[in-house]
Amino acid sequence: MSCGILWFRRDLRLSDNPALQEALRCCERLLPVYIHAPEEEAPWEPGGASRWWLHHSLTALQQDLRTRGSDLLILRGPSLDSLRRIADRSQASHVFCNRLYEPDAMTRDARIASKLEEQGLVCSGHNASLLHEPEDLKTGKGTPFRVFSAFWRAALERALPPTAPRPGPSRLPPCPDLSLPSVSLDALALRPTIPWDGGLREHWTPGEEGALNRLGRFLDQALGGYTARRDLPAVPGTSGLSPHLRFGEIGPAQIRWALQDRTQSAAAGGLESAGHAYLRQLGWREFSYHLLHHFPQTSEQPLDPRFADFPWAPDAQASTLLSAWQRGQTGIPIVDAGMRELWRRGWMHNRVRMIAASLLTKNLRVHWLSGARWFWDTLVDADLANNTMGWQWTAGCGADAAPYFRIFNPVLQGERFDPDGAYVRHWVPELANLEDRYLHQP
Ligand code: FAD
Repeated sequence: MSCGILWFRRDLRLSDNPALQEALRCCERLLPVYIHAPEEEAPWEPGGASRWWLHHSLTALQQDLRTRGSDLLILRGPSLDSLRRIADRSQASHVFCNRLYEPDAMTRDARIASKLEEQGLVCSGHNASLLHEPEDLKTGKGTPFRVFSAFWRAALERALPPTAPRPGPSRLPPCPDLSLPSVSLDALALRPTIPWDGGLREHWTPGEEGALNRLGRFLDQALGGYTARRDLPAVPGTSGLSPHLRFGEIGPAQIRWALQDRTQSAAAGGLESAGHAYLRQLGWREFSYHLLHHFPQTSEQPLDPRFADFPWAPDAQASTLLSAWQRGQTGIPIVDAGMRELWRRGWMHNRVRMIAASLLTKNLRVHWLSGARWFWDTLVDADLANNTMGWQWTAGCGADAAPYFRIFNPVLQGERFDPDGAYVRHWVPELANLEDRYLHQP
């Protein structure tokens, strides 16, 4: 009986999972595996908040597989050695996975696939996380896009009508017995030793079910007001799907389908423009993957080379400023509120990310990479493509970037997007009793 290895990475779901579907089509036996090899992601190994998420997401996936008659084998890396070992023991003929798009991960995966193929295995990679492959969209001159509006126009022109997502299988073939003990999730030590994760636990439910529930809630409760409320950090006006997308507990194609389904139903009057606005945000995510793919140096270097020697604040000064910013002690209420939300929930509203990043890079002149690294460690949705684009856009050194001379005024931004001060009062309680007119500039 043919056996396939299903190598889970950042596609931690069973529904609409093309690698899983292909594995079930080709093989009678299936060996789902997760290989823990953070060193292979250096220098962007998962940060603390991402590790927390990963622990819970893998727990959910393992449970989902078990209730369907299968299981998740957890191994430690190196990935190639682990795959070889289990391929030998299971007599597997195939390895299935969904693609990663970070440049270093792609290089590693290509190397692993070629080694496994030398050994006679068939390797197949699939797209579970993007609407468009980064190579598929090019300008009229055949070059990569650097401007979002043109990129998104091209993406919409090429987009095929959405197709209904495939539901997860209700039963899976049992795992072959390899006499190879699975590493326990606890042994991976992904959870913090000092319990700082209370706010994360209160706010998030990692895993596929949590993702689908969050999507359903967003469509029911917030999509209609998305255009008007998506910039207001005090209200739940956005979907909060970013960490679920990051770990592949849901894919953008599933979201696109659900949006179309909801906005085109007869009863949906008026939802269509909200649906477009939301899809456009997913477009920014697509754009960031396009950029990172075509400009792989940008996770460390500015896309705009004129900023390579920018005179950032000297180290000693930068480290004091950075530390005040990280702790939410800058004295700028909207920024401090955002930084404390980040620490507590592992997430920050997009508008506030822009204001906080702008203050750090443009007012305090701290290098954007210092901010990007802090976000990397503290965000549950830390994503190399999105984070790099967000920081370079704000700092003015990336694609389509806010020019270096355009600097957010954080007081005016606070007054505009948190007009009654509910956000600041919640996260910066020492200011809670101030009158509205002083709140954003105490
Ligand atoms: P929604 O408004 O519900 O949007 C839906 C989805 O669209 C999001 O989940 C996300 O996948 C995508 N999206 C929305 N806005 C953007 C955007 N500006 N850029 C790219 N994709 C977007 N997003 C991350 O996922 N990971 C990061 O590490 C990250 N770092 C950022 C750093 C900075 C400095 C800035 C300014 C933005 C960053 N973003 C990042 C983008 C954005 O802030 C988050 O995606 C968004 O806040 C997630 O909340 P949501 O799911 O409720 O968004």
